[in-house]
Amino acid sequence: MEKMQIQVLVDNNTYIDRYFVGEPAVSYYIEIDGNRILFDAGYSEVFISNAEKMDIDLGDLTHVIFSHGHNDHTRGIQFLANKYDLSKVKLIAHPNCLKPKKCGGDNIGAPFSIEKARNTFMYEPKSKPFKISENCIFLGEIPSINNFEKRAKIGKYKSENLWDDDYVLDDSAIACKTDKGIFIVTGCSHSGICNIVEYAKKVCGDNRIVGILGGFHLFELDDRLGSTIQYLKKEEINMLYPCHCVSFKVKAKMNEMLNVNEVGVGLTISI
Ligand SMILES: [Zn+2]
Ligand SMILES: [Zn+2]
Repeated sequence: MEKMQIQVLVDNNTYIDRYFVGEPAVSYYIEIDGNRILFDAGYSEVFISNAEKMDIDLGDLTHVIFSHGHNDHTRGIQFLANKYDLSKVKLIAHPNCLKPKKCGGDNIGAPFSIEKARNTFMYEPKSKPFKISENCIFLGEIPSINNFEKRAKIGKYKSENLWDDDYVLDDSAIACKTDKGIFIVTGCSHSGICNIVEYAKKVCGDNRIVGILGGFHLFELDDRLGSTIQYLKKEEINMLYPCHCVSFKVKAKMNEMLNVNEVGVGLTISI
């Protein structure tokens, strides 16, 4: 029996001959342990129309999980809330995720305040690892474990009425346990993809990583990329799906040493 299935509702990329709509954002639909999870909601309402074309009923979700608060991962949720009653849906995210965020004068945070989230969902902020079900864990805040993935600040966030530098501590991921090992789903990996992998192994008590889907936040051919490739090679990860915030030249470089797969809207991964 298949343990989990992931479908890409939104990605920057689309496949030839399949007429879904892409945007520079993330939204995945995941079925695991009988739950129906929306992982990120993209920027616009296109994840909803793409899901309809894939015969996915987003009116029947059990959970919404936000990888972090940036609007390319959260802004679309307002369109789903306008369409469906989400009051029985659990919203899982880091406590900082819904705090206001700005960068260079633009609002880059979520469309919902914490108060609005409480009125719309069953809102459950989690900074520690949280078991959504037997085989699906929200990792919460990711500790900085290695020395080559320094946290970068992206604008400011508002906490206790003060604007402070935002090191995106809300950036998290989920770990899905399968017979073959852990499959990790990330948003942007602002916390560092290798930090996320190390933490997922520790939290799940399993050293086998079967695959990763999501943004790795890598753009340049630099020392960090070299260390990341060495790390992923050592981990012997067979199914790599870097997307969203990974440049072409980084994917090409990774593909010299690793098994890199192309991601686009409509991709289905079943394990
Ligand atoms: Zn982001
Ligand atoms: Zn992003």
